[in-house]
Amino acid sequence: MSLAYQHGYSLKALNTFGFDAVAERFVAIDTLDQVRELHADIRRKPQPLLWLGGGSNLVLADQIPGTVAQIRLRGRRIETLNSDEVRVTLGAGENWHASVEALLDEDIFGLENLALIPGAVGSAPVQNIGAYGVEIGDRLEAVEVFDWSSAEHYWLSREDCAFGYRDSLFKRNPGRYLITRVRLRLNRRPAPVLTYAPLRQALADQSEPHPRAVFEAVCRIRRSKLPDPAQIGNAGSFFKNPLIDAAHHQQLRDRFPDLVAYPDGRHYKVAAGWLIDRLGWKGYRGGAVGVHRHQALVLVNYGGGNRQQIEALSGRIRRSVREAFAIELEVEPGFYPPTVQP
Ligand SMILES: Cc1cc2nc3c(=O)[nH]c(=O)nc-3n(C[C@H](O)[C@H](O)[C@H](O)COP(=O)(O)OP(=O)(O)OC[C@H]3O[C@@H](n4cnc5c(N)ncnc54)[C@H](O)[C@@H]3O)c2cc1C
Repeated sequence: MSLAYQHGYSLKALNTFGFDAVAERFVAIDTLDQVRELHADIRRKPQPLLWLGGGSNLVLADQIPGTVAQIRLRGRRIETLNSDEVRVTLGAGENWHASVEALLDEDIFGLENLALIPGAVGSAPVQNIGAYGVEIGDRLEAVEVFDWSSAEHYWLSREDCAFGYRDSLFKRNPGRYLITRVRLRLNRRPAPVLTYAPLRQALADQSEPHPRAVFEAVCRIRRSKLPDPAQIGNAGSFFKNPLIDAAHHQQLRDRFPDLVAYPDGRHYKVAAGWLIDRLGWKGYRGGAVGVHRHQALVLVNYGGGNRQQIEALSGRIRRSVREAFAIELEVEPGFYPPTVQP
């Protein structure tokens, strides 16, 4: 089937900030042949190209030049490796949360801490999604990519993916690897991860909580803490939790005894939400955008906001954190078209 390009296509429903972005050209990609066709088209007529999943980790400009291709490759395959282990291969276009829930329904465990993260399976390795003590990199065996520079289609191992905190090979090489499938190594034997204190507390009445109970607790906590993009536009956490060295940590701890920070190797990971909250930003509203009233890490679009407004707000928050704590906050979602962080 050849590609059905649409011109002047509204992406308002395809980004969770709900920005009124318009793509010069939009196309849905359902098959591998269409990936190859798109590659050939762009090679014939070079232009900017954005691969889009669920648009939940992007800050889009009003006008998007070139082509936006939404990756909708489907598929789910389950292989039993032994009495405990299962290999699951998912198409990049599958919905992440629906996949987590469907696997749980089949008594396949390991993803329950990552419930309710919006977006597509293919985007999950890009920033190595993580929540409640688990990252996708912990469960991933391999990623199948279409290499945009060579037009080759191959598998990358977990080691090749070079995962870090909200970081990966894919994030560091934007536009190079189109993820087509993701292969996970999961379990039939429950092995709940309860390292995250609020999750442990939520399940304190159960000595050995079943993964289903973990899944439900994660969903409950997330629903109570995070704004639903269907109600208020947002992209989840807007800033990464910064890492600082021990001396810097001690200096801040002396000034702010209630600082929220955890040891992370030889460094300390500081709760960015605490820094922003401490400076009084929580609940701030400036025009159509603001900082969520319950969650200082989440910037929101109340309706009618746009990228420039979010950029300006993000810039002000980053400046105030820099001045107060000598910490450089890093923005988590990607700006498209790319820009220097405000
Ligand atoms: C309410 C809310 C809560 C969130 N909670 C979390 C959380 O707990 N933990 C967390 O880690 N994240 C969280 N996020 C961020 C976001 O959901 C994840 O980063 C998610 O994986 C993004 O998926 P997506 O399909 O929406 O990606 P998109 O926003 O569409 O794309 C993100 C990036 O991936 C690239 N991309 C998309 N598809 C492909 C592909 N097939 N191959 C290669 N590159 C591709 C895009 O070009 C873009 O650079 C949250 C977001 C929201 C709105």
